[in-house]
Amino acid sequence: MKRSVVFVAFFLILGFALAGLYWSQRRPKSAPVSANAILNMAADAQRDLSRIPMHFTLLSDEQEIAIGKELAARYATQTRKLTPEEAGLEKYVTRVGNTVALRAHRHLPYTFTVLPDHNMINAFSLPGGPVYIGEGMLDLMMSEDELANVLAHEVEHIDHFHCVERVQLEARLKNLNLDVLGALLQIPLDFWEAGYHKDEEFEADREGIYLAVRSGYSPYGAVDTFERFAKLHDEYAIHAQSPEEELSELAIQSLNGYFRSHPLPSERLAQAKRIIAEQHWEDRKAQKPFRVEYEVHNREYVK
Ligand SMILES: [Zn+2]
Repeated sequence: MKRSVVFVAFFLILGFALAGLYWSQRRPKSAPVSANAILNMAADAQRDLSRIPMHFTLLSDEQEIAIGKELAARYATQTRKLTPEEAGLEKYVTRVGNTVALRAHRHLPYTFTVLPDHNMINAFSLPGGPVYIGEGMLDLMMSEDELANVLAHEVEHIDHFHCVERVQLEARLKNLNLDVLGALLQIPLDFWEAGYHKDEEFEADREGIYLAVRSGYSPYGAVDTFERFAKLHDEYAIHAQSPEEELSELAIQSLNGYFRSHPLPSERLAQAKRIIAEQHWEDRKAQKPFRVEYEVHNREYVK
Protein backbone atom coordinates (compact mmCIF):
# COMPACT_ATOMS: atom_id res chain seq x y z
CA MET A 1 0.00 0.00 0.00
CA LYS A 2 1.25 3.47 -0.82
CA ARG A 3 2.27 5.53 2.16
CA SER A 4 0.02 8.42 1.15
CA VAL A 5 -2.94 6.05 1.19
CA VAL A 6 -1.91 4.84 4.61
CA PHE A 7 -1.65 8.41 5.89
CA VAL A 8 -5.08 9.30 4.56
CA ALA A 9 -6.50 6.13 6.08
CA PHE A 10 -4.89 6.93 9.42
CA PHE A 11 -6.45 10.38 9.42
CA LEU A 12 -9.81 8.85 8.64
CA ILE A 13 -9.39 6.62 11.68
CA LEU A 14 -8.28 9.53 13.83
CA GLY A 15 -11.37 11.30 12.57
CA PHE A 16 -13.49 8.35 13.69
CA ALA A 17 -11.85 8.47 17.11
CA LEU A 18 -12.39 12.21 17.49
CA ALA A 19 -15.97 11.81 16.26
CA GLY A 20 -16.30 9.13 18.92
CA LEU A 21 -15.07 11.57 21.55
CA TYR A 22 -17.44 14.28 20.36
CA TRP A 23 -20.32 11.85 20.22
CA SER A 24 -19.59 10.25 23.58
CA GLN A 25 -19.53 13.69 25.19
CA ARG A 26 -22.83 14.61 23.63
CA ARG A 27 -24.50 11.37 24.61
CA PRO A 28 -25.99 11.09 28.08
CA LYS A 29 -23.66 9.27 30.45
CA SER A 30 -26.04 6.30 30.58
CA ALA A 31 -25.06 5.23 27.07
CA PRO A 32 -21.27 4.80 27.05
CA VAL A 33 -21.45 1.64 24.96
CA SER A 34 -22.41 3.39 21.74
CA ALA A 35 -19.16 5.34 21.70
CA ASN A 36 -17.35 2.03 22.04
CA ALA A 37 -19.06 0.80 18.92
CA ILE A 38 -17.59 3.63 16.84
CA LEU A 39 -14.15 3.06 18.27
CA ASN A 40 -14.34 -0.65 17.62
CA MET A 41 -15.16 0.21 14.04
CA ALA A 42 -12.04 2.38 13.96
CA ALA A 43 -10.05 -0.51 15.39
CA ASP A 44 -11.32 -2.84 12.67
CA ALA A 45 -10.34 -0.37 9.96
CA GLN A 46 -6.98 0.20 11.55
CA ARG A 47 -6.11 -3.47 11.57
CA ASP A 48 -6.48 -3.54 7.79
CA LEU A 49 -3.73 -0.99 7.33
CA SER A 50 -0.22 -2.01 6.56
CA ARG A 51 2.00 -1.52 9.51
CA ILE A 52 4.25 1.47 8.99
CA PRO A 53 7.71 0.75 10.31
CA MET A 54 9.21 3.61 12.23
CA HIS A 55 12.88 3.35 11.45
CA PHE A 56 13.73 6.56 13.18
CA THR A 57 12.74 7.89 16.54
CA LEU A 58 11.21 11.29 16.38
CA LEU A 59 10.17 11.46 19.99
CA SER A 60 12.69 11.08 22.76
CA ASP A 61 11.91 8.78 25.70
CA GLU A 62 11.37 11.93 27.77
CA GLN A 63 8.75 13.23 25.33
CA GLU A 64 7.06 9.82 25.17
CA ILE A 65 7.00 9.61 28.97
CA ALA A 66 5.59 13.15 29.22
CA ILE A 67 2.77 12.32 26.77
CA GLY A 68 1.96 9.10 28.63
CA LYS A 69 1.85 10.91 31.97
CA GLU A 70 -0.36 13.64 30.57
CA LEU A 71 -2.80 11.08 29.10
CA ALA A 72 -2.78 9.06 32.33
CA ALA A 73 -3.49 12.17 34.43
CA ARG A 74 -6.50 13.03 32.27
CA TYR A 75 -7.84 9.52 32.34
CA ALA A 76 -7.39 9.29 36.12
CA THR A 77 -10.22 11.81 36.47
CA GLN A 78 -12.58 9.54 34.51
CA THR A 79 -12.54 6.54 36.85
CA ARG A 80 -13.99 6.15 40.32
CA LYS A 81 -11.90 5.74 43.47
CA LEU A 82 -10.86 2.18 44.32
CA THR A 83 -12.38 0.41 47.33
CA PRO A 84 -9.82 -0.82 49.92
CA GLU A 85 -10.15 -4.34 48.44
CA GLU A 86 -9.53 -3.02 44.93
CA ALA A 87 -6.57 -0.99 46.19
CA GLY A 88 -5.13 -4.26 47.54
CA LEU A 89 -5.73 -5.89 44.17
CA GLU A 90 -3.94 -2.99 42.45
CA LYS A 91 -0.93 -3.42 44.77
CA TYR A 92 -0.78 -7.07 43.76
CA VAL A 93 -1.08 -6.21 40.05
CA THR A 94 1.66 -3.60 40.49
CA ARG A 95 3.97 -6.09 42.19
CA VAL A 96 3.54 -8.66 39.42
CA GLY A 97 3.76 -5.92 36.74
CA ASN A 98 6.96 -4.48 38.21
CA THR A 99 8.49 -7.97 38.32
CA VAL A 100 8.11 -8.34 34.55
CA ALA A 101 8.71 -4.66 33.63
CA LEU A 102 12.10 -4.79 35.37
CA ARG A 103 13.30 -7.11 32.62
CA ALA A 104 11.93 -5.11 29.68
CA HIS A 105 14.44 -3.68 27.19
CA ARG A 106 13.47 -0.06 27.71
CA HIS A 107 13.81 1.38 31.19
CA LEU A 108 10.68 3.47 31.50
CA PRO A 109 8.49 4.42 34.48
CA TYR A 110 5.99 1.56 34.05
CA THR A 111 2.84 1.89 36.18
CA PHE A 112 -0.04 -0.54 36.65
CA THR A 113 -3.59 0.64 37.23
CA VAL A 114 -6.73 -1.39 37.92
CA LEU A 115 -9.86 -0.01 36.23
CA PRO A 116 -12.63 -0.69 38.77
CA ASP A 117 -15.26 -2.14 36.46
CA HIS A 118 -16.20 -5.82 36.52
CA ASN A 119 -17.67 -5.43 33.03
CA MET A 120 -14.36 -4.33 31.58
CA ILE A 121 -12.61 -7.34 30.05
CA ASN A 122 -9.58 -5.65 28.55
CA ALA A 123 -6.05 -4.46 29.23
CA PHE A 124 -4.11 -1.78 27.38
CA SER A 125 -1.12 0.50 27.59
CA LEU A 126 -0.23 4.13 26.88
CA PRO A 127 3.05 5.52 25.53
CA GLY A 128 5.87 5.88 28.06
CA GLY A 129 4.80 3.35 30.68
CA PRO A 130 1.18 3.38 31.95
CA VAL A 131 -0.54 -0.05 31.81
CA TYR A 132 -4.24 -0.56 32.61
CA ILE A 133 -6.19 -3.71 33.35
CA GLY A 134 -9.96 -3.98 33.79
CA GLU A 135 -11.41 -5.72 36.84
CA GLY A 136 -13.42 -7.97 34.50
CA MET A 137 -10.15 -9.24 32.99
CA LEU A 138 -8.74 -9.87 36.48
CA ASP A 139 -11.91 -11.83 37.37
CA LEU A 140 -10.98 -14.31 34.63
CA MET A 141 -7.42 -14.92 35.87
CA MET A 142 -6.75 -18.20 37.66
CA SER A 143 -3.02 -17.89 38.32
CA GLU A 144 -0.35 -15.25 38.91
CA ASP A 145 1.39 -16.57 35.79
CA GLU A 146 -1.67 -15.71 33.69
CA LEU A 147 -1.63 -12.19 35.12
CA ALA A 148 2.12 -11.91 34.48
CA ASN A 149 1.68 -12.92 30.84
CA VAL A 150 -1.16 -10.42 30.28
CA LEU A 151 0.82 -7.58 31.88
CA ALA A 152 3.99 -8.59 30.01
CA HIS A 153 2.02 -8.40 26.73
CA GLU A 154 1.05 -4.80 27.57
CA VAL A 155 4.59 -3.89 28.67
CA GLU A 156 5.87 -5.22 25.32
CA HIS A 157 3.50 -2.93 23.39
CA ILE A 158 5.35 -0.05 25.08
CA ASP A 159 8.77 -1.75 25.02
CA HIS A 160 8.54 -2.33 21.24
CA PHE A 161 7.33 1.21 20.48
CA HIS A 162 3.83 0.16 19.36
CA CYS A 163 2.21 2.82 21.53
CA VAL A 164 4.59 5.60 20.60
CA GLU A 165 4.43 4.72 16.89
CA ARG A 166 0.90 6.04 16.86
CA VAL A 167 2.05 9.23 18.50
CA GLN A 168 5.06 9.47 16.20
CA LEU A 169 3.00 8.98 13.08
CA GLU A 170 0.84 11.90 14.09
CA ALA A 171 3.78 14.05 15.11
CA ARG A 172 5.67 13.23 11.91
CA LEU A 173 2.77 14.17 9.70
CA LYS A 174 2.54 17.54 11.34
CA ASN A 175 6.23 18.12 11.96
CA LEU A 176 5.76 17.85 15.71
CA ASN A 177 3.21 20.61 15.69
CA LEU A 178 2.18 20.97 19.32
CA ASP A 179 -1.47 21.38 18.37
CA VAL A 180 -1.49 17.85 17.03
CA LEU A 181 -0.03 16.55 20.29
CA GLY A 182 -2.70 18.59 22.05
CA ALA A 183 -5.36 16.93 19.88
CA LEU A 184 -3.80 13.55 20.57
CA LEU A 185 -4.24 14.09 24.27
CA GLN A 186 -7.97 14.55 23.68
CA ILE A 187 -8.36 11.07 22.21
CA PRO A 188 -10.61 9.00 24.46
CA LEU A 189 -9.24 6.06 26.41
CA ASP A 190 -11.14 3.70 24.11
CA PHE A 191 -8.79 4.55 21.26
CA TRP A 192 -5.88 3.08 23.19
CA GLU A 193 -8.03 0.14 24.28
CA ALA A 194 -8.67 -0.72 20.65
CA GLY A 195 -5.60 -2.92 20.17
CA TYR A 196 -2.91 -2.78 17.48
CA HIS A 197 -2.11 -4.22 14.12
CA LYS A 198 -2.19 -8.02 14.06
CA ASP A 199 1.61 -8.23 13.65
CA GLU A 200 2.08 -6.04 16.71
CA GLU A 201 -0.36 -8.14 18.75
CA PHE A 202 1.52 -11.32 17.85
CA GLU A 203 4.81 -9.59 18.63
CA ALA A 204 3.50 -8.45 22.04
CA ASP A 205 2.26 -12.02 22.73
CA ARG A 206 5.60 -13.53 21.74
CA GLU A 207 7.82 -11.01 23.50
CA GLY A 208 5.43 -11.04 26.48
CA ILE A 209 5.90 -14.80 26.90
CA TYR A 210 9.70 -14.42 26.77
CA LEU A 211 9.52 -11.55 29.27
CA ALA A 212 7.27 -13.52 31.66
CA VAL A 213 9.59 -16.54 31.48
CA ARG A 214 12.68 -14.34 32.05
CA SER A 215 10.85 -13.07 35.14
CA GLY A 216 10.34 -16.57 36.54
CA TYR A 217 6.77 -17.21 35.34
CA SER A 218 5.38 -20.14 33.39
CA PRO A 219 4.65 -19.77 29.65
CA TYR A 220 1.56 -21.89 30.37
CA GLY A 221 0.06 -18.76 31.94
CA ALA A 222 -0.33 -17.50 28.34
CA VAL A 223 -1.60 -20.90 27.14
CA ASP A 224 -4.28 -21.03 29.86
CA THR A 225 -5.39 -17.45 29.16
CA PHE A 226 -5.69 -18.06 25.40
CA GLU A 227 -7.54 -21.35 25.99
CA ARG A 228 -10.06 -19.49 28.16
CA PHE A 229 -10.38 -16.76 25.53
CA ALA A 230 -10.90 -19.41 22.83
CA LYS A 231 -13.72 -20.92 24.91
CA LEU A 232 -15.28 -17.49 25.55
CA HIS A 233 -14.91 -16.69 21.83
CA ASP A 234 -16.84 -19.88 20.98
CA GLU A 235 -19.50 -19.06 23.54
CA TYR A 236 -19.97 -15.32 23.10
CA ALA A 237 -18.57 -14.30 19.70
CA ILE A 238 -19.44 -17.13 17.29
CA HIS A 239 -21.99 -18.91 19.52
CA ALA A 240 -20.58 -22.35 18.72
CA GLN A 241 -21.50 -23.49 22.21
CA SER A 242 -23.69 -22.21 25.02
CA PRO A 243 -21.97 -20.24 27.80
CA GLU A 244 -20.94 -22.01 30.96
CA GLU A 245 -21.15 -18.90 33.10
CA GLU A 246 -23.42 -15.93 32.65
CA LEU A 247 -21.72 -12.68 31.78
CA SER A 248 -23.59 -9.38 31.92
CA GLU A 249 -24.58 -7.67 28.67
CA LEU A 250 -21.93 -4.96 29.21
CA ALA A 251 -19.25 -7.57 29.92
CA ILE A 252 -20.17 -9.42 26.71
CA GLN A 253 -19.90 -6.18 24.71
CA SER A 254 -16.53 -5.48 26.27
CA LEU A 255 -15.36 -9.04 25.56
CA ASN A 256 -16.46 -8.84 21.93
CA GLY A 257 -14.67 -5.50 21.56
CA TYR A 258 -11.56 -7.22 22.85
CA PHE A 259 -11.97 -10.10 20.37
CA ARG A 260 -12.49 -7.69 17.46
CA SER A 261 -9.31 -5.79 18.29
CA HIS A 262 -7.06 -8.83 18.76
CA PRO A 263 -6.09 -11.83 16.60
CA LEU A 264 -8.19 -14.98 17.02
CA PRO A 265 -7.56 -16.66 20.40
CA SER A 266 -6.91 -19.96 18.57
CA GLU A 267 -4.07 -18.31 16.57
CA ARG A 268 -2.60 -16.72 19.70
CA LEU A 269 -2.80 -20.10 21.45
CA ALA A 270 -1.06 -21.82 18.51
CA GLN A 271 1.80 -19.30 18.62
CA ALA A 272 2.24 -19.75 22.39
CA LYS A 273 2.39 -23.55 22.01
CA ARG A 274 4.87 -23.19 19.15
CA ILE A 275 7.19 -21.05 21.31
CA ILE A 276 7.02 -23.55 24.18
CA ALA A 277 7.95 -26.40 21.80
CA GLU A 278 10.78 -24.40 20.18
CA GLN A 279 12.24 -23.39 23.54
CA HIS A 280 11.68 -26.83 25.13
CA TRP A 281 9.71 -25.27 27.96
CA GLU A 282 7.28 -28.21 28.28
CA ASP A 283 8.43 -28.84 31.87
CA ARG A 284 7.68 -25.29 33.01
CA LYS A 285 4.06 -26.07 33.82
CA ALA A 286 3.97 -25.08 37.52
CA GLN A 287 2.04 -21.87 38.15
CA LYS A 288 1.63 -19.73 41.25
CA PRO A 289 -1.91 -19.22 42.56
CA PHE A 290 -3.57 -15.87 41.90
CA ARG A 291 -3.39 -14.48 45.40
CA VAL A 292 -3.73 -10.97 46.67
CA GLU A 293 -1.43 -11.02 49.67
CA TYR A 294 -2.82 -7.98 51.46
CA GLU A 295 -5.64 -8.08 53.97
CA VAL A 296 -7.82 -5.34 55.34
CA HIS A 297 -7.21 -4.45 59.00
CA ASN A 298 -8.87 -1.34 60.38
CA ARG A 299 -9.52 -0.19 56.81
CA GLU A 300 -5.83 -0.41 55.95
CA TYR A 301 -3.96 -2.98 53.98
CA VAL A 302 -1.30 -5.01 55.74
CA LYS A 303 0.77 -7.83 54.37
ZN1 LIG B 1 -2.26 -6.13 22.65
